[in-house]
Amino acid sequence: EQDVADYRRILAIRVSGFDVPKPIKLFEDCGFGAPLMSTISKQGYEKPTPIQCQALPIVLSGRDIIGIAKTGSGKTAAFVLPMIVHIMDQPELKKEEGPIGVICAPTRELAHQIYLEAKKFSKPYNIKVSAVYGGASKHEQFKELKAGCEIVVATPGRLIDLLKMKAVKMLRATYLVLDEADRMFDLGFEPQVRSIVGQIRPDRQTLLFSATMPYKVERLAREILTDPIRVAVGEVGM
Ligand code: ADP
Ligand code: MG
Repeated sequence: EQDVADYRRILAIRVSGFDVPKPIKLFEDCGFGAPLMSTISKQGYEKPTPIQCQALPIVLSGRDIIGIAKTGSGKTAAFVLPMIVHIMDQPELKKEEGPIGVICAPTRELAHQIYLEAKKFSKPYNIKVSAVYGGASKHEQFKELKAGCEIVVATPGRLIDLLKMKAVKMLRATYLVLDEADRMFDLGFEPQVRSIVGQIRPDRQTLLFSATMPYKVERLAREILTDPIRVAVGEVGM
C-alpha cells in the first residue's frame, strides 16, 4: 500500500473514491489481447502516461471515472483502449442495433482526431467507427449511422439532430465518454450533453475527461456518473 502511494506520488496522481484499483506500470499489466498490444507498439507507445497508468485499470474494471489531466497527456488512449475491450466483450456485434460506445467532443476537429485514434485501435477487429459533426453533410452522416456502427464519435448538436431524425438508436450504448468536458461547457453545450446522457441507458459506464475542472463541470459529473473515481494528474485548474 505504501508502494502504491509512493508510485502515485511519483506520477503526480491524486485519486478519490472508494475501492480505487492500483495504477499499472506497463501496458502488459492491462491484459490486452495481442492485436491491441501490437497496435500500441506500432504507435510507438512504450509505456503508459500517468493518466493512462491510473485510468486504464479503473475503466477496465467497469467503474465510472472523472479524469483530469492537461492537454497532451494521453487521455484519448485512456478511454479508447478500454472501449475496444468493452465492445469485444459483447456476445455479438449487431451494427444495426446502434453504437455500443458513444464519445462526445466539443469540436469537429477533436471529434475527428478521436475518430482516427478509435479507427487505429479498431482496425484488427470487426468494429465500425463513425464520426458525426457539424460542417459536413448531415444526409451522408444519416446514411452512415443508418448503416450501423459500434462506435460513434460526435459533437453534441449534430448527434442530437441525428437522434431526432432517428438515424440511430441508443439501445445498445453502454459506454459513454464526455471528452474535454470543460470546453463543452464553455461552448454552451451543457443542455445538449444532458439530453444525450438522458437518452442512454442508466446502467452504462460513463467516463468524463477534462483538462480543467471548474465547479459546474464537477457538479454535472457528480450528477451523471455513478460512484465515480476521480483521478487528477498534476495541478488542476478550475
Ligand atoms: P490529450 O487528450 O490528453 O490532450 P492525446 O490523447 O491527444 O492527449 O495524446 C497526446 C499525444 O500523445 C498524441 O500524439 C498521442 O498519440 C500520444 N500518446 C498517447 N499515449 C502515449 C503513450 N503512452 N506513449 C507515447 N505517446 C503517447
Ligand atoms: Mg484529448
